[in-house]
Amino acid sequence: MFNTDKIYEKNDKHVWLSSPTMHGDELEYIKEAYMSNWMSTVGKNIDEVEKHISEYIGTKYAIALASGTASLHLAIKMAAIKAYGMPGSGIVSLKGKKVFCSDMTFSATVNPVLYEGGEPVFIDTEYDTWNMDPKALEKAFEIYPDVKIVVLVHLYGTPAKIDEINTIVKKYNAILIEDAAESMGATYRGSQTGTFGDYNILSFNGNKIITGSSGGCLLTDDEEAAKKARKWSTQSREAAPWYQHEEIGYNYRMSNVIAGVVRGQLPYLNEHIAKKRKIYERYQEGLKGLPVSMNPFDKEKSNPNFWLSCLIVDKAAMCKQVRSESDNCYIKEKGKSCPTEILEAISLINAEGRPIWKPMHNQPIYRMNPFITSDGNGRAKTNAYISGEATDVGMDIFDRGLCLPSDNKMTAEEQDRVIKVIRDCFE
Ligand SMILES: *Cc1c(COP(=O)(O)O)cnc(C)c1O
Repeated sequence: MFNTDKIYEKNDKHVWLSSPTMHGDELEYIKEAYMSNWMSTVGKNIDEVEKHISEYIGTKYAIALASGTASLHLAIKMAAIKAYGMPGSGIVSLKGKKVFCSDMTFSATVNPVLYEGGEPVFIDTEYDTWNMDPKALEKAFEIYPDVKIVVLVHLYGTPAKIDEINTIVKKYNAILIEDAAESMGATYRGSQTGTFGDYNILSFNGNKIITGSSGGCLLTDDEEAAKKARKWSTQSREAAPWYQHEEIGYNYRMSNVIAGVVRGQLPYLNEHIAKKRKIYERYQEGLKGLPVSMNPFDKEKSNPNFWLSCLIVDKAAMCKQVRSESDNCYIKEKGKSCPTEILEAISLINAEGRPIWKPMHNQPIYRMNPFITSDGNGRAKTNAYISGEATDVGMDIFDRGLCLPSDNKMTAEEQDRVIKVIRDCFE
């Protein structure tokens, strides 16, 4: 229970969840774009970003795009063509088709499925990495054996159970799309996330591990797909003396100015990851003895990028917490706490936490979509309205978990203050 009468030492400056960390090189590359007048979606920064990302990640092609969401949209279109052989000229390529998607994620992971007229089927989460549960995926294929596309997220920078998931994906002859928006630089059995699926994506949104202020990238080994993505992203012009169009096009290319920022950030990716890891480890140490644990990962197989440090409160240490569609409240209880109380306490000292991504199957927009748990029961099992009584894994982690301030510029003292108020919540 957090004592609100106590006077807490506040951080002088706001401690962000995860804010951009600039180094100076970015300005030089922006200036280069300006001075050479490549203030466009063509230019050296874009070429360099694509070259360095494909080398670093280890895919043959990296296509620099306007956002992670745009990259996902093109990945979905590409997968639709590969799976169903539909021509790219169609406005929607997934009409009437189901697509298996990670459930506990940001809505940007699944919205592109709807852009193409498809129907996301949400696959429940497992407790070991907080990602798609292979058992639930297997169940989903038993129920819908014709599904051909799987969209897999590596949440908060932690690689999913890729081996298990890939085995199932291959067994059912499906196509894997990795949403590595949050996991750039994370590895699984020594390979980068973003190399396991057929068409994969990164994001350079402002709060990601490195940023361009915005931007994204499509990753693939497929030469045809890379060519198509470049074409689609620049309005699908055909080779002709005039503007000739055979396919629907998009204005999805990355700007050469944005690419300057990304280019300047790339050399610092490993440094950012090292800092994020330190933050994670400091929380782990500082929260020892409390009835909480940090977001878990497979220590044998994976090296997360530790983008966000999160915690989950033990079931027995949860005070009563109720969440409606737009409000929440809790009842203070000695020795117990909950994410609502902890987030309130953190904000009192001028720091920013965040709830776990609310699972997609419980979002009003997706409430009618199928949802599959590891026993195949899905919606029959879940209670969409009463928080704290969830029986699916995603809602349970949403109820008991939260994201902690994980900013690379947070000082050790600032982090210690965050740790102190969390400890006080369990007094
Ligand atoms: C940020 C994010 C995206 C979207 O990336 P944008 O560049 O913001 O469009 C997609 N999926 C996940 C999991 C994300 O965290």
